[in-house]
Amino acid sequence: MRTGTIKARKLTVAPEKLGYFRYARVAGKVVLTNDVGEFHFLSEDDFRLFLRAELPEDHADIAQLRFKGFLREDLDTDAIADRVRRKKHFLPNGPHLHAVITTLRCNQSCRYCHASRADMSRVDTDMSLETAKKVVDFAMQTTSSYVNFEFQGGEPTINMAAIKFIVEYSKEKNKYENKVLVHSVVTNMTYMTEENANWLIENDVLVCTSLDGPEGLHNWNRAMTGNDPTNAYKDVVRWIKYFNQKYIEMGRDPNLWHVDALMTTTSKSLAMWKEVVDLYLELGIRSVHFRPLNPFGFATKTWHKIGYTPKEFNDVYVKVLDYVVQLNKEGHEIIEGTAATFLKKMLTARDPNFVDIRSPVGSGTGQIGYSYDGTIYPSDEGRMVAAMGDDIFAIGHVDSSTYEEIVRHPTVRAIAVASLLDSLPSCSTCFNAPYCGVRPLHNYMNGGDLFGQRPNTPKCAEYMHMTKQLFQRLIEDNEGEVEAIFRRWVIERPRTDDTSQ
Ligand code: SF4
Repeated sequence: MRTGTIKARKLTVAPEKLGYFRYARVAGKVVLTNDVGEFHFLSEDDFRLFLRAELPEDHADIAQLRFKGFLREDLDTDAIADRVRRKKHFLPNGPHLHAVITTLRCNQSCRYCHASRADMSRVDTDMSLETAKKVVDFAMQTTSSYVNFEFQGGEPTINMAAIKFIVEYSKEKNKYENKVLVHSVVTNMTYMTEENANWLIENDVLVCTSLDGPEGLHNWNRAMTGNDPTNAYKDVVRWIKYFNQKYIEMGRDPNLWHVDALMTTTSKSLAMWKEVVDLYLELGIRSVHFRPLNPFGFATKTWHKIGYTPKEFNDVYVKVLDYVVQLNKEGHEIIEGTAATFLKKMLTARDPNFVDIRSPVGSGTGQIGYSYDGTIYPSDEGRMVAAMGDDIFAIGHVDSSTYEEIVRHPTVRAIAVASLLDSLPSCSTCFNAPYCGVRPLHNYMNGGDLFGQRPNTPKCAEYMHMTKQLFQRLIEDNEGEVEAIFRRWVIERPRTDDTSQ
């Protein structure tokens, strides 16, 4: 709790009567939040009474404030501690997400791609089966009972041999490791074949693709290399339909088994936000994930063409959010992905353990990245930094490093310290701390320092804006209709017994 006098309003605070809380002003209300993830809206007048511990016993909010832990009287600290422990369930687990770069080769040259891809002729950037085996042997040592091998690239399906080997070998190894084992691939779909698609389906490999919007936009953002005449958009749509139809034919619940899609937003996408959402709806994709560009590593000329300011992104994001909510009111089941992540933190007792938005961030403690040559990074972003000529985040190699050396590596510790919101200036007193997450590798790429200057970092601006928008919609939700929609967005139906979630 902030103690002392709030000088502007000349208010004396009664700290001995109050629980620990942070606050912000949103849409004419004061929003209280605490470490359990609880929030409560008070009018300005009631907030002043609350601070002085003078809210009358028969006030409509008293019981809720007490239950949520905002008042010290009758505070059950053991129960609060249990709820915090439940929120932070991921802390003792160890890395569960293992991002494997099966090749740097890619048949696309996307406008926002960094130096981390290679031309199709560069077979020397394919992961060997020997390295793939060492990756599995390494990853399966994690203390996490849930392990997700996520294949990335380049275009990972170009090296299907490595994917097949890792899936089969890890399944074999898991016969005595007994972990919850998941495999997923992030593919641009333009190298897909029926044989590979069927193998992925039969082996339960989850498929996520990139779909930036309608044909003109998608193909502008994600051009093919050289003279390749492939229409990337048509391939993505064709294969989404192929996979989804196959799942249905196999009798799988389409709510659980379907291709997920991610989009990356360029300046051109901002102008076409509605067409993007409509396309996702038309294709039956249940989650649109309106993601900003990672603003690093671009030449000025490129950034001028595809970039935008955080404010420009945030202004469009509000339109996307309201449109998606409106679609829900009309009976469509579609969610906005980042909003859903924050809502899970706000409306449920557990944190969704999304490695990029948690405290501490997942790099090295929730995820590990393996480059094609076996070099180990705390996350795939570390590999991208290396591709730009700075190997600072390389923390070992599958040939020579032990699991203990990696998870206790000084770089992993430094990243954890630099992302622990409770101890970061600005974050430690920010209303958003129970829900937010900072990314030291982003800060490093933006400003050469693991500790970014909040609130000036783009991610801080994005997340601060997003949470305030969500609170605003809940505050203005007189009929409870929006809250009911938001509560649907946080329902998780895992395809596996995913204990990390
Ligand atoms: S990054 Fe920004 S929004 Fe997030 S907790 Fe820190 S100050 Fe708040």
